[in-house]
Amino acid sequence: MSMWLGLDDTDYLDGGCTTLVFHELLEAIPCDYGKPRLTRLWPFASRRTRGNASLSVELFAGEEIIPWLDSYWNKKILPLAGNISSSHHSDRKQYPADPGMTLFHEQPDEDYYWKAVRGEVEYYKGGIQWGGNGRIGAAASCAWRENHPTWEGIAWRSGKRNVQNSVLSIVDKMEGTFLCRDPRNNRGLISPRGNCPVMFGVRATSYQTANDATKLLIAGSEPVTGYRIFTTNQASGDHIESVRSEIVVHKDVITGGHVLINDTYVAFSESGDVNKLCQWLKIGDRFDCIGLEYDGVIHIEGIKITESKIKTRPICSCGTRMKSMGKGQGVRCPKCKEIRENGWDISNRKPPIIGWAQPDPDKRRHLAKLSL
Ligand SMILES: [Zn+2]
Repeated sequence: MSMWLGLDDTDYLDGGCTTLVFHELLEAIPCDYGKPRLTRLWPFASRRTRGNASLSVELFAGEEIIPWLDSYWNKKILPLAGNISSSHHSDRKQYPADPGMTLFHEQPDEDYYWKAVRGEVEYYKGGIQWGGNGRIGAAASCAWRENHPTWEGIAWRSGKRNVQNSVLSIVDKMEGTFLCRDPRNNRGLISPRGNCPVMFGVRATSYQTANDATKLLIAGSEPVTGYRIFTTNQASGDHIESVRSEIVVHKDVITGGHVLINDTYVAFSESGDVNKLCQWLKIGDRFDCIGLEYDGVIHIEGIKITESKIKTRPICSCGTRMKSMGKGQGVRCPKCKEIRENGWDISNRKPPIIGWAQPDPDKRRHLAKLSL
């Protein structure tokens, strides 16, 4: 018999890392199971804890697994509830861990995943559920159908966090790994900061590559306590419903260099090329963009300039720039006095970035597509 198990929201700043709690549960569980899955959901969900990864797995077990899970929940996971720690690095409000675990005899409706990756959702009805707010992410993870998956190999440390630079270089160059390093400064992107027990998380476009890369990295790291390869919805773009096409009618550059377009679209100063393109936009320009809406404002995650025209006075056949003779009266050459009725030359303005621009690698969402 097959069932679906989900877990979320066990983490707080100093511990409870959801991936490790889930790994330990799988180490202990007395049944066979499928490949573990890590899903990222709507980043603006209210009350979400610091990390936003939810976990799920298919279990091959009978009803006897229910009392086992119940006991494991009470002993190992429930004690994490309510843990909170203050952050010196972030002004964001920290919510206490509010773990949730779900178990379903049948995989929940796929629709629930799509709602949870694109917006706020209520608890899923049905199945067996333990705990609080984390039940939402747990059920949503179970509902994911693995459309456009990528993989992430995660290893947990026993002591110091250190991965040899030479090994990271090899893994970075492997066909199929992605976002291992920031190409601008060569800084590694695989290791988290702070107290989190993760040694590294290496992302790849195939299971095999994630597995190979993980083994290489472990050989070049301080000791790890274990590792797993998760199937993930990272880089799927699932959080974005569609591309929006707009014309610039209003543009403000606000404090800190953030750009607000048409009072609706915001490009934060940290968003690298996205912000650069928005700074460059002029009234009348056309652009396509993708982004997440929050509180009526769309946070731009990708932008492409589709049209930007510039109007200049024509150059006369003698090589001199012509001048207006007054409103609606055409232009005249100040030198040879030639006259033209059409007072403007329209040409294309070349954007500093052609095609889609995305934020810098370290500022991208886990869900963001690799290229647009
Ligand atoms: Zn002339």
